[in-house]
Amino acid sequence: MLDYQESVLRQLTKQFINNQWIESQGQRRLAVMDPYRQHQLAELTAGDAADVDAAVAAARKALPEWQALGGARRAEWLDAFADAFSERRDELITTSATNNGKPLAEAAIDLDDAIACYRYYAKQARALEQRQGRLVEHAMDGIEARTYEDPAGVVALITPWNFPLVTSAWKIAPALAAGCTIVFKPSEVTPLPENAVAEIAEAIELPAGVLNLVHGDGEGIGAPLSAHPGVDKLSFTGSNAVGERVMHAAAEGVRGVSLELGGKSPILVLDDADPEQAADWVMAGIYFNSGQICSATSRLIIDASIADALYEALSQRIDALRLGDPLADDTDMGPMTSARQRQSVERYLEIAREEGLTAVRDASHRQLPAQGEFVAPTLFRDVPTDSRLWREEIFGPVLCARSVTSEQEAIQHGNDSDFGLAATVISGDPQRARRVARRLRAGSIWYNSEQLVMPEASWGGFGISGIGRELGPWGLSGYLEVKHIIGPAD
Ligand code: NAD
Repeated sequence: MLDYQESVLRQLTKQFINNQWIESQGQRRLAVMDPYRQHQLAELTAGDAADVDAAVAAARKALPEWQALGGARRAEWLDAFADAFSERRDELITTSATNNGKPLAEAAIDLDDAIACYRYYAKQARALEQRQGRLVEHAMDGIEARTYEDPAGVVALITPWNFPLVTSAWKIAPALAAGCTIVFKPSEVTPLPENAVAEIAEAIELPAGVLNLVHGDGEGIGAPLSAHPGVDKLSFTGSNAVGERVMHAAAEGVRGVSLELGGKSPILVLDDADPEQAADWVMAGIYFNSGQICSATSRLIIDASIADALYEALSQRIDALRLGDPLADDTDMGPMTSARQRQSVERYLEIAREEGLTAVRDASHRQLPAQGEFVAPTLFRDVPTDSRLWREEIFGPVLCARSVTSEQEAIQHGNDSDFGLAATVISGDPQRARRVARRLRAGSIWYNSEQLVMPEASWGGFGISGIGRELGPWGLSGYLEVKHIIGPAD
């Protein structure tokens, strides 16, 4: 177990604008908490529209030179980010675990994901430069047409608290690769790990104004940033309620918007699955990060023939989960990231009681740690499809299950959601699993595996789960404008 020192209260009242740390104009202060020790880690500015103005102006000024550098030179900065994150690995893992409440092993997975993302977009930046000006194949004699991809401009990047450093890497790395300049607003709940992004930009001497980080909440920074006419494109990850507001703001001035929103993803366990093996993948899909995963497979759809065996295997595994200090090596599940999120999940547990749902496992089956914002890992069975718990994103360790009697019925229930972010299919026959996966309506579908995420494959949702895709070449194209130059060939 790592030593944890009750450190002095950190002050995050400065914004990183034009490579300088400038005192925020905001007067309100927010508390940044350790959700396990329920102890204040930092005081944070709530930010102010004047901070946004200064950051957007700095990004605008830096844009022409950053664009003119070209992809290959920009790639060097992306590699420098990856190197710097690697050098600060242990410290950043601890900071993430402390501020977010996730176990160290999960914080390590996050950091490795972020590093891989910066490295991947360094390669993409080089490839972008290589393909600038490529000839278009067409049928007009004596005419040439060439394709160029220019940066979208000044981009505003807004992220949530559940995967600090990851959701930001998925935006910052492709935006820098594309040649955009950035105003980044991390979540006010987990600003401590995200502050490292600006510290690293400063340490590697990224050109001034290319990346500006403005701390604050939705009211102080998020809303004025979304509405700022100097922002060409908005990329938002977070809740549907706020995503809709960001999209409204982007409509003013016809500015581009990418949205990575919520989910209510299904996991289908078919009749030929091994219940013991399936149970491991079901567990990973819902209790990782205490269920605070946008792609959480929170709707379990089981063939009735193996339902009892699967419930038994899941119960054993839930009972074996060790809840506790995120900094302890033997912790499997930490607290919710905030008191607010714990209360939000608890409201759903009240609704479950009102609806009379049957709990296979809940708080009555275990003792919660004496401190921390914990919610017991919970499993409800035979949940009706009109239950609010079946239909709404809970964003906590709450799994809802129901049985079906055919593959067709499993697919039908799987697709019966307004969301469409992710899905998992488990079957003894990989070909069958892939065939069923093709019929599901979601952006990321895994079969016979846990939720594997790689920078080369896309991330994003169908339906109300969002607009656009992150990661892969699609993630880069979100920050590019395509143009063609056409005229007589030489
Ligand atoms: P949230 O919507 O409350 O906040 C997200 C960000 O928006 C924060 O930085 C917040 O300060 C900011 N914000 C708040 N009000 C704003 C406003 N009016 N204008 C602009 N910005 C504003 O979400 P959250 O609670 O931080 O995160 C949880 C949600 O994020 C869940 O719904 C989850 O599914 C979603 N999420 C989605 C993905 C994905 O890839 N699809 C990934 C992670 C999280």
